[in-house]
Amino acid sequence: MKKERFKLKCIGLNEEGKGIVEINGRLEYIPYLLENELAIIEEIENRNNKSLKLVQIANQSKERVKAPCEYYGKCGGCQLQHMTNQAQDKFKQSQIEQLMNPYGKVNEILTMKDPYFYRNKIHSTFALTKSRQVISGFYKENTHDVINIEKCIIQDSKADEIIQSIKGLMRSFKMKPFDEDTGQGFLRHVLIKKGFATKQIMVVLVTSTKVFPGKNNYIKALRKIHPEISTIILNVNNRKTSIILGNEEVTLYGRGYIEDVLCGVRFQISAKSFYQVNPIQTEVLYNKAIEMAGLKGDETVIDAYCGIGTIGLILSHKVKNVIGVELNNDAVKDAIKNARNNNIKNAYFHNEDAGDFMVKTANENKKIDLVIMDPPRSGSDEKFLSSLVKLSPEKVVYVSCNPITQERDLRYLVKNGYKVKEIQPVDMFPQTNHVEVVVKLEKQ
Ligand code: SAH
Repeated sequence: MKKERFKLKCIGLNEEGKGIVEINGRLEYIPYLLENELAIIEEIENRNNKSLKLVQIANQSKERVKAPCEYYGKCGGCQLQHMTNQAQDKFKQSQIEQLMNPYGKVNEILTMKDPYFYRNKIHSTFALTKSRQVISGFYKENTHDVINIEKCIIQDSKADEIIQSIKGLMRSFKMKPFDEDTGQGFLRHVLIKKGFATKQIMVVLVTSTKVFPGKNNYIKALRKIHPEISTIILNVNNRKTSIILGNEEVTLYGRGYIEDVLCGVRFQISAKSFYQVNPIQTEVLYNKAIEMAGLKGDETVIDAYCGIGTIGLILSHKVKNVIGVELNNDAVKDAIKNARNNNIKNAYFHNEDAGDFMVKTANENKKIDLVIMDPPRSGSDEKFLSSLVKLSPEKVVYVSCNPITQERDLRYLVKNGYKVKEIQPVDMFPQTNHVEVVVKLEKQ
């Protein structure tokens, strides 16, 4: 093993929020280092790899704060807690400006006033330590090692309490955490979703098997501690996978879904359906997207990658028709019910790959005025984008949680006859390096 120390100045931040330094002519990225800080960095060289360690910071940046979370640096879920809120905003703004520079000016990021305890979807993995203690928390970054986390300051605190209670009940119910290596044990994960406006709470117990002896007493015991729980679901996941939810689902208590209200519309949300994780900022995002759409009242709108139909249903009273398309069957079922429950009669939903749906719609020569698209992190695909161009709506509003793939898709649209009119970053994920961006495009 060889060790070498360097004293280096951080010259900026990369897109993940890591500090950039130059060592012997090559750029390296150091987590938790800020611009203009002078750092002692140790390079450790083993037989087959080199690693860098931040030993000391000689001059602390004014933008540095002590991270409020006690697991910071171990957990990996947040990357920017060592930065002031203003520095986080500046970082996100400049990332989007650099990326979107070819398309024009970027609006100032819409930030969150109180950027903690915002997540309404909470997930915890259960495991047994070597000394046979039950722990629950998150996987340490890039590993399958669980770190025990009792309180997360970006999540709803009631959910944290429920997870601790579930942990506390395990011994008396002889419930064993699942062991990924041996395949033994019962409880793999707990997923909690909470309706921000309704306060309804869903608890999903993700287990290795459907066989749950003592189930009724368990539900009684958990409900006794937390009468605020609205529904409890058993989700069976016996595959070797890091995906949390399995396919099979049994409702143990309540209705099997929760509800929430966004922009005045009431939504039902199932365990497997996507729902935005920051309800306060979701309204900010949706209002901006709808403003960009500049609706007149006679439009036919496609809401692509629509989830439970949120965006389309919220703007439905401002347009002629909404056509939603979504791949996840449970989400589409929710969307259809959500239209019915809100007495919305001009919204139709299709359970299909958005690309396939666009190809069909383009071939039918239908007139579409506006396409709102909100794909997953991987972005859209050529099938979707080429049919979008063929369908040729006057306007496109592109919502994305991954600006890198969004920029890639914008490049395609701009090459094929669209012009970017407005770019708006929204901070949906404070303390983390993620940014949401909504972009308005118009046909040239
Ligand atoms: N607009 C919704 C959902 C956005 S998340 C909201 O704001 O809540 C992206 C959605 O795209 C998810 O619901 C996911 O299930 C869906 N999805 C992923 N791949 C898809 C595809 N190929 N076709 C259609 N929908 C897809």
